[in-house]
Amino acid sequence: MRPLARTLLNTPDVELWPAWLLRAHGNADARILSRATRVLRRKRDGRYMAAVLDEGLMPLVPRLRREPGVEDALDLLDAAAGDDIAAGAAQLPPDRVGHRLEALGIEAAAYAGRTGLALVAEPVVLALAGFDRYRRPLWLLADAARAWRRMHASAAQDGVALDAISGYRSHDYQLGIFERKRARGLEIDAILAVNAAPGFSEHHSGQALDIGTPGEPPAEESFEGTDAFAWLSRHAREHGFAMSYPRGNPHGIVHEPWHWRYRPAGPGEA
Ligand SMILES: [Zn+2]
Repeated sequence: MRPLARTLLNTPDVELWPAWLLRAHGNADARILSRATRVLRRKRDGRYMAAVLDEGLMPLVPRLRREPGVEDALDLLDAAAGDDIAAGAAQLPPDRVGHRLEALGIEAAAYAGRTGLALVAEPVVLALAGFDRYRRPLWLLADAARAWRRMHASAAQDGVALDAISGYRSHDYQLGIFERKRARGLEIDAILAVNAAPGFSEHHSGQALDIGTPGEPPAEESFEGTDAFAWLSRHAREHGFAMSYPRGNPHGIVHEPWHWRYRPAGPGEA
């Protein structure tokens, strides 16, 4: 039996998911997913577009070949040749998010100037780093995934339970958050006070994750008072993780004790 795929392959419009990690939406889906190695999933709305079976590609939407980005996705699948693609530094061009920011009334250059944040490119390949608190797959860059697993195990040895709440998020995912909040009537400035603009979140990089601990609500400042946070303050650095948004950070982002980023010290850095 072939080993299960443990990478997410990413293109501008389509993600290639390991089929075993996807939930079936019905019986027909379940039968197809059980035979598929990968599934092409539209990023904009999460729709399953096609299943990759041993005997070939099975379309799950009408006129699959006319869907934007399908050819790119199939090219990447070929390049990945069954899952041995190097989980390296390849990134997607980040600029496509611009038009959709405008549609939301966010001017990218002005936002970047105001916050000191830069557009963050999505990686082409992400590694499965385990599962988050909600049993969803946790995707990170390969190095960050290894570091998170080590840090998680090390904390457990000290009797401290760390929970992943959220890792990699695509530009489309962040756009979805904004579009849903707008639809509920929130003003754009109110949303920007708690969410980075789509394209500007560290979560797009595959190097950032939100960390919690059982019994604590996700992404609340009260996390700062937990044993888990105390442990992270002492040991995260040894594993290459640092807090991105401490109090008084220059980006105007609220203090986020739960948000950590993998950035190992390079040669010559303290
Ligand atoms: Zn975060």
